[in-house]
Amino acid sequence: MRQKIVVANWKMYKTIAEAEDFMKRFPGEVSGVKDIEIVICPPFISLPGLSVLMKGTSLILGAQNMYWQKEGAFTGEISPLMLREIGVEYVIIGHSERRKYFNENDLCIKRKIAASFAYGLNPILCVGENFEQRSSNETEKIIREQIFSALEGFNLEEHQLPKMVVAYEPVWAIGTGTPAGGDDAEAIAIYIRSLLREKWGEVSDQIRILYGGSVKPENITEFTGKENIDGALVGNSSLKENIFADLINAVFRERRV
Ligand code: PEP
Repeated sequence: MRQKIVVANWKMYKTIAEAEDFMKRFPGEVSGVKDIEIVICPPFISLPGLSVLMKGTSLILGAQNMYWQKEGAFTGEISPLMLREIGVEYVIIGHSERRKYFNENDLCIKRKIAASFAYGLNPILCVGENFEQRSSNETEKIIREQIFSALEGFNLEEHQLPKMVVAYEPVWAIGTGTPAGGDDAEAIAIYIRSLLREKWGEVSDQIRILYGGSVKPENITEFTGKENIDGALVGNSSLKENIFADLINAVFRERRV
């Protein structure tokens, strides 16, 4: 059975002091939660401080991005090696905001996915259609292109595959307050699973697929209650510790009934 996973993407929110303040309170609010991976992806500068505060908790550290080289003359970039040193385990790759505002293309995303595997980081590959693509019924075509271009051209060993996470994030649902419907998200998760199976066969059934886009405590179980949705990537609702804790606790309660 695939373990549920909820990932907080703090984007460019929170100073170091604010991030640490959150982390002093949050573990206590989810202390009863078992068997759900909770990953916190703060801005880079908060990673070292949070890694200290998260010691002794079951929370996991993630990054929002990275470069694909180990080191070099790449001003302003952070390498997978640097992330590993701090204790980062997951890294978000190809978020739609990076594709849109920082011109990340398929080649760059593919290189980052390859580098994350090479350095023992678990990639969270984000895919999803924008509003125009959805309106012209191109959702499946876009997702197919995004998945295959990100994973083409390098060999993955069987044991590496289950470490990958795919997040279905329809661009029109991110930060808008208008989530996809649970059934629609499940239909796309099934489609993504069929693509992964087409490429890797049955072992790909171990890959976790998340939904992301305006998830809140009130709607999270519409997604995590589906057979093929193994968790969520959460932006806005992960910024306040009580709201994020409510969201996690809702997933936990649902798993127990
Ligand atoms: C995201 O940043 O990936 C996201 C899903 O944001 P929000 O939850 O705010 O829509």
